[in-house]
Amino acid sequence: MLSARKQLDEIRQKIEHNDTFEQARSTFETARQLLADLEKQYKDLDAEAEELRKNIKELENKLYGGKIKNPKELMGYEQEAGLLRNRLSKMDDSLLDMMERIESGKNRTARLKQVFDEARQTWDEEKAALRQKADEVNGQTVGLDAKRKELLKEIDGATLSLYEGIKSRRGQAVVRVEQGRCMGCRCFLSVSELQRVRGSSIVQCSNCGRILYLS
Ligand SMILES: [Zn+2]
Repeated sequence: MLSARKQLDEIRQKIEHNDTFEQARSTFETARQLLADLEKQYKDLDAEAEELRKNIKELENKLYGGKIKNPKELMGYEQEAGLLRNRLSKMDDSLLDMMERIESGKNRTARLKQVFDEARQTWDEEKAALRQKADEVNGQTVGLDAKRKELLKEIDGATLSLYEGIKSRRGQAVVRVEQGRCMGCRCFLSVSELQRVRGSSIVQCSNCGRILYLS
């Protein structure tokens, strides 16, 4: 009975938690989060670069539009445009670099997704087998319970309460006699006790009170 309960506990633990699956999930989730962050960064930087391009365009319109004649003013715009182009060039480099990282991030995430899916499928199959095993163990337990109840019906009330009393005090109520000793307390039995054990009546050990039987 105890071993059946232990078996069921172990099965439940295996159904509730699976290290391989958890690890695959967390690795995949981390990669997916990193990729999402990177894509967000790229989008933000891309919008910033777009804004910069617009600013440069406006400056160039001022520079080459012909409306502004003041050389000092033109030189100022020229300098500003130069600075902005410089910044834009660096941004474009970053964007290119990010795009490569996004590409490899996508590949990595796809691979990890596959590992995760496989781990989930394997675990699902394991769980199905474990549930079936649990059903079997449960079935056996129910069978044993029924058998025990059948046996108890055949035993009279006094014997039963004697049995339950010893069991609650000693744990094991019925013990074997081996080479003249009670295997519950290891005491040697008297000759008359041994003779009575050989008979059909219920005999208790005079030392520990357990019910004796000969193997
Ligand atoms: Zn004993």
